[in-house]
Amino acid sequence: MSEEHDPTICPHCGQKMSRWESPAVESWGSEYQYICFNDECGYYVRGWDHTFRTIGIRASYRHRYDPNTGQTGPFPVKSEEDGKDGIVPE
Ligand SMILES: [Zn+2]
Repeated sequence: MSEEHDPTICPHCGQKMSRWESPAVESWGSEYQYICFNDECGYYVRGWDHTFRTIGIRASYRHRYDPNTGQTGPFPVKSEEDGKDGIVPE
């Protein structure tokens, strides 16, 4: 256990998350977020099925980390491309 916990690594798939800038800043509050845009991520893959079974719509969510508040949560998406236009290089 010598590895330090890096909050920008997705805990669901172990991939580095992408820095993401919201086109509608007010809805997230922070200037930017970290979002896991790995299409193989289990959290995102399971989300399609879970959302459809629980609320009957075709949507999913990606793992999101807010570096300003330190909080994590779901980032809702309706397609594989949703949100990808907001990815910004570190
Ligand atoms: Zn992930």
